[in-house]
Amino acid sequence: MWPFNRKGVSGFSSSSTAEEVTEGIDGSGLTAVVTGASSGIGSETARVLALRGVHVVMGVRNMSSGKSVREEIVNKIPSAKVDVMELDLSSMASVRKFASEFGSSNLPLNVLINNAGVMAIPFSLSKDGLELQFATNHIGHFLLTHLLMDKMKRTSRNTKTEGRIVNVSSEAHWITYREGICFDKINDQSRYQSYLAYGQSKIANILHANELSRRFKEENVNITANSLHPGIVATNLFRYQSIMNALTSAVAKFVMKDVHQGAATTCYLALHPQVKGVSGKYFSNSNLATPSSKASDEELAKKLWDFSLNTISA
Ligand code: NDP
Repeated sequence: MWPFNRKGVSGFSSSSTAEEVTEGIDGSGLTAVVTGASSGIGSETARVLALRGVHVVMGVRNMSSGKSVREEIVNKIPSAKVDVMELDLSSMASVRKFASEFGSSNLPLNVLINNAGVMAIPFSLSKDGLELQFATNHIGHFLLTHLLMDKMKRTSRNTKTEGRIVNVSSEAHWITYREGICFDKINDQSRYQSYLAYGQSKIANILHANELSRRFKEENVNITANSLHPGIVATNLFRYQSIMNALTSAVAKFVMKDVHQGAATTCYLALHPQVKGVSGKYFSNSNLATPSSKASDEELAKKLWDFSLNTISA
């Protein structure tokens, strides 16, 4: 349990839980897609949104763990509306299939939570020939957002309700000191360092939200896009680093957030009225935060947008 507790201007702190930051909020009538909802921050996000009445569609690559998480949620919250759909973000074909099936489900889409991620894995390429962290953490979510966009715009128009896109990222000041940003060199194995590649893919999550937000404002669309750092949270994310994994189990309860706290900022951005109309911002501990200069770079955000669009169109 994360012990520090200084409240920010939102009234919440690093120790606030997802249930606390959404207390009293009625999410019934809303539909949300949560990626990577089969474990960690994603499964807690799905649970708390369902608790608040949101119809949750869990996008998961492992259907059997997705179904177990769904069962747990529904057992505890009998009124919960939760569906599980297959989604492998590292495969563009899988993302297209998910979007097409979701599109024909007749469900509206108010909230899209781009949460799934892998961290610091050994170098490998996705089915589409892209470095796997960049493919999973950024390109998969870029394509998913792109394909669900019409549905989100239609929902916000028809229901006169603000749509919200929430990208789960992480701060990456250190990466800009080491390597700079070079999205076009992601497949170069000789340059590959697993943590740098992770950091780069997470900066991409912030830049993606910023550029989405800029475009929504330009088009006068009633959808916001924000990104966040969930904190250092004890989850399966550290499974590829034996030292970090051991540390996670040993010291988690002293220095890391638990998943209830780790999902708080995501749920705050998805549902809280305090952030109505707030877009293109970065959050941490359910409060506004400042990302690295590279992550705020508007030109870089446009460059990444074009690069990503070319990649999904290739
Ligand atoms: P977990 O490993 O517990 O959860 C990650 C989720 O992403 C899992 O459900 C996993 O599925 C899913 N996932 C991984 N690859 C794919 C894929 N190709 N297609 C679909 N789903 C996939 O980690 P967290 O809950 O900690 O991570 C959630 C997010 O939070 C990530 O984006 C991460 O980068 C971010 N984050 C986490 C921090 C932390 O300290 N934990 C710190 C900063 C950011 P499966 O169960 O099948 O593996």
